[in-house]
Amino acid sequence: MADRKCLALIAHDQKKDDLAAFVKANEAVFATCKIVATGTTGGRVLDVCPGLDITRLKSGPLGGDQQIGALIATGDVDCLIFFVDPLTPMPHDVDVKALMRLAIVYDIPMALNRATAEELIAFRRN
Ligand code: PGA
Repeated sequence: MADRKCLALIAHDQKKDDLAAFVKANEAVFATCKIVATGTTGGRVLDVCPGLDITRLKSGPLGGDQQIGALIATGDVDCLIFFVDPLTPMPHDVDVKALMRLAIVYDIPMALNRATAEELIAFRRN
């Protein structure tokens, strides 16, 4: 199991239901991965998929996005699924931008909406 991929999951408040539903619909794929998530997002996903291997970090506004960025920088996250809410201003917007920047720097797959996440998961399913 040492070569299991590590996925990072984050969803902004208005997108948490969407992300939880997406993970539930693809639970068999997520069950093959290690998962790290920001605190609230991880809790919401565990509510619908209690069997998944999810490490919950701090909540995003309290540093969780930066923790995931650090894991990307150390090579410990292979893929980022981040359901962004484009309609709500966020107090930690700079952290969100920094996280996306690191995903680009380290060239890991990054899905910022459900359509792209569906494509990433379809790739892993095949
Ligand atoms: P949360 O953090 O999952 O703890 O809400 C996500 C975010 O807003 O970055």
